[in-house]
Amino acid sequence: MRTGLSADVIARVLGNRPKYTLAELEEKYPPRNLSEGAFVTRFAPSPTGYMHIGGLYQAFIDSKLARQSGGVFMLRIEDTDTKREVADAVKIIENSMHRFGLEYNDIPEYGPYYQSQRKDIYHSVAADLLARGLAYPCFLTSEDMEKIRENQKAAGFATGIYGEFARDRDISEEEIIRRLDAGEVPSIRLYSTGNPDNRIFCKDAVRGSIGFPENNEDIVLIKSNDGLPTYHFAHLCDDHFMRTTHVVRGEEWLPSFPLHIQLFRMMGWTPPLYIHTSTIDKIDPETGKQRKLSKRHDPEANVAFFLQDGWPTDAVLEYLGNIAASGYEEAKSKGQVKSIWDYELRLKKIPISGALFDMKKLEWWAREFIGTLPVDKLVKLVRDWADEYDPQWAARIGDNPEYLKNILAIERDNPKRIRKDFITWKQTLQEVSYFWDDLFVPNKEYEFNKDLLSTFLSTFDICDDKDAWWAKIVAIAADKGVKNGDVAMNLRVALTGRTNTPDLYSIMQVMGSDRVVNRIKDVING
Ligand code: GLU
Repeated sequence: MRTGLSADVIARVLGNRPKYTLAELEEKYPPRNLSEGAFVTRFAPSPTGYMHIGGLYQAFIDSKLARQSGGVFMLRIEDTDTKREVADAVKIIENSMHRFGLEYNDIPEYGPYYQSQRKDIYHSVAADLLARGLAYPCFLTSEDMEKIRENQKAAGFATGIYGEFARDRDISEEEIIRRLDAGEVPSIRLYSTGNPDNRIFCKDAVRGSIGFPENNEDIVLIKSNDGLPTYHFAHLCDDHFMRTTHVVRGEEWLPSFPLHIQLFRMMGWTPPLYIHTSTIDKIDPETGKQRKLSKRHDPEANVAFFLQDGWPTDAVLEYLGNIAASGYEEAKSKGQVKSIWDYELRLKKIPISGALFDMKKLEWWAREFIGTLPVDKLVKLVRDWADEYDPQWAARIGDNPEYLKNILAIERDNPKRIRKDFITWKQTLQEVSYFWDDLFVPNKEYEFNKDLLSTFLSTFDICDDKDAWWAKIVAIAADKGVKNGDVAMNLRVALTGRTNTPDLYSIMQVMGSDRVVNRIKDVING
């Protein structure tokens, strides 16, 4: 600790008198009036224009914990790094959250929810630390710091601003005023009293208590260039005054955990419970080894990829949910729960290392999910996707929406036979594209038995019911000395170009008489 600064010097250092006292802030943001055991969580992304699947995973955990405990889930935009900001970044985050059903439900009283709008709060807390000698204005320039760093490296010391390297930590008020008068702009640094020879224990709700060397770095609390806080300081103030009970964040924050606990202790505030999530990994197709999903190399690291390709967001969320709450898949397959939202997420079970996100496994979740969708819902989801991402398909569907509905209704709504050939909305449309003449690709390889097809054509009547239709196929087969399946296969390939399709009778009914006749004729005459 050092001598605290006077109110006048603090006002000059911060460029303004603090708007609030700590007592006023406590009153403005009182402990929440929630029932016992209710979690208050927040998803706190930086608006970088990119939503990582790991962020979605954390947001799911946040949302789930709040929902299952009758608590509150907030979205807080951490926009204090003005250099990294990108237009529309917040929209991308909000849209992703909305698409995946991760609705936040906080009341405005605990806002604002953009850190850039909370400067008064940060400055008020910084003023308290400055007055208590636990923070100080630091006038080191980036060149100064570079020099310090080089010297430290050359001498084999740990780099950073700490102890004797923290030039300004005991700076006098006179010196502060002299430098301010000379136009120098300080950052506000923590006056760290930590000693790395001592251990500090930090509690993670999943990992338990973790011992770290105490932090001795005088880290920056408020930046000099824009007066905005660093993550460390903003998180301290926000999670306290937003009354967050559980912080779910990536394991990359573990190294700064001791600093954060130190800050809470200095303020005399109870820290929230932390849950540091593991990275989301994949098996590298080249090396066969498990590694972190890479923003640069793996399209599936980006949440936008799943939206663009039309993956069912529920299936993605179920899969992520099953990673966080590994018993879900079993409970669902036994029919004990219907959705991930009905399955309890237990803190202790959240994985703490290498959570694997495997696209093949996601396909399984997607097939299962789409398989049980009622046709109207399926049509809506496919159409919504096409409207947003594929104008050509949107126009095609728009011309005759009933046709798509009839196509997708084939073998649907039959709990005994669930179709599992659809994975994404995009692929669903590709899968049924043969229903449109201009997209139909005739099969040039298949060796048709034209005689069978001609005979079928001569007896074909679209009004036949399924039994009558099948009786005709059986009769042709008997007459020509082939198997029933041979007749059906010739028809199937002639009509769809494929050897594997859902129920052929239904396909013909949906295609309609003219299309069936024309396609068979094309083969016969081809
Ligand atoms: N803005 C931080 C990040 O994106 C938030 C970490 C946290 O949730 O506290 O990593």
